[in-house]
Amino acid sequence: MNMEFLRELPSARVVKEMYPLSEKAAERKKTNDKAIQAIFTGESDKLLLVIGPCSADREDAVIEYIGRLRGLQDKVADKIVICPRIYTNKPRTTGEGYKGMLHQPDPESAPDMLKGLIAIRKVHIRALEECGFSCADEMLYPENHPYLSDVLSYVAVGARSVENQMHRLTSSGLDIPVGMKNPTGGMLSVMMNAMTAAQHGHTFVYAGWEVHSKGNPLAHAILRGYSHKQGSNAPNYHYEDLQFVSNLYAKSDLVNPAVIVDTNHSNSNKQFDQQPRIAKEIIHSMMLSKDIKKLVKGLMIESYLVDGCQKPEGNVYGQSITDPCLGWEKTEAMVLEIAELL
Ligand code: PEP
Ligand code: MN
Repeated sequence: MNMEFLRELPSARVVKEMYPLSEKAAERKKTNDKAIQAIFTGESDKLLLVIGPCSADREDAVIEYIGRLRGLQDKVADKIVICPRIYTNKPRTTGEGYKGMLHQPDPESAPDMLKGLIAIRKVHIRALEECGFSCADEMLYPENHPYLSDVLSYVAVGARSVENQMHRLTSSGLDIPVGMKNPTGGMLSVMMNAMTAAQHGHTFVYAGWEVHSKGNPLAHAILRGYSHKQGSNAPNYHYEDLQFVSNLYAKSDLVNPAVIVDTNHSNSNKQFDQQPRIAKEIIHSMMLSKDIKKLVKGLMIESYLVDGCQKPEGNVYGQSITDPCLGWEKTEAMVLEIAELL
């Protein structure tokens, strides 16, 4: 094999024993899970906001940001359920660049996977213990999910992973909502097929075991815009796009039809400050169509303490080192406005 085996890493069970959750935090996750799952089953008509930085680059800034979300959540609790993004591993288009806290707990130092596994668990535990949020992460490496399985309330399968068998089969064995993004090329059948695979049970090899998954009825769609073959971006959050997905669901045998709309990425063409406008357009579409209102369960928003982004070696505290994010003041105004409109 053309790889060097550097050291054997502790299993998820061992890391969980080293960094356990308190009983209170475990109870809190159960409460959060119920509130989020009720949105997907239609028992609750609150809007889910999966919101936070593109990447969780440093623990202190991320926890400060999530502490601010706590105050905001309490203000809008009658209309909105917030699930913060703590994205600890980042897919890279060419494989180059910052791969997230899992690889580089210090973005400027060399990768250290043991430190990384511990760092990602610690930041998720702090969000739950200190701010009461069990958060969202991207399941970029399905085999790593067990390291965080007791702290997450939401998982996304990214645009570059959604056609992958292992992501689909692992999703079918989770008991939290899994959002399947449309692929970067925009083909909606790939996203629909991913949901079909995830909603059904499978027998497969996982973490050295033969396992059987029961199927995940909370697997759903995330629309994130797409790229044309020439490279330009196109949105898929408009009224017609939502209607189209509603029709695809109607023709399928999928349960709990649901769409989360990602307001950044190819939907905003990474113009992060367009996110409030895009959110308002989606809410307007929900007001115009009962079907769309029933279908759209939430928004995914990229937001952090400071507007925009910087290079990984930049030292602006609370500014993204991956995709540009909406800063705190605009985020707060946006969430309050969404609550007013609902
Ligand atoms: C993200 O959510 O930051 C992300 C990488 O999304 P996508 O998979 O849609 O590119
Ligand atoms: Mn991003």
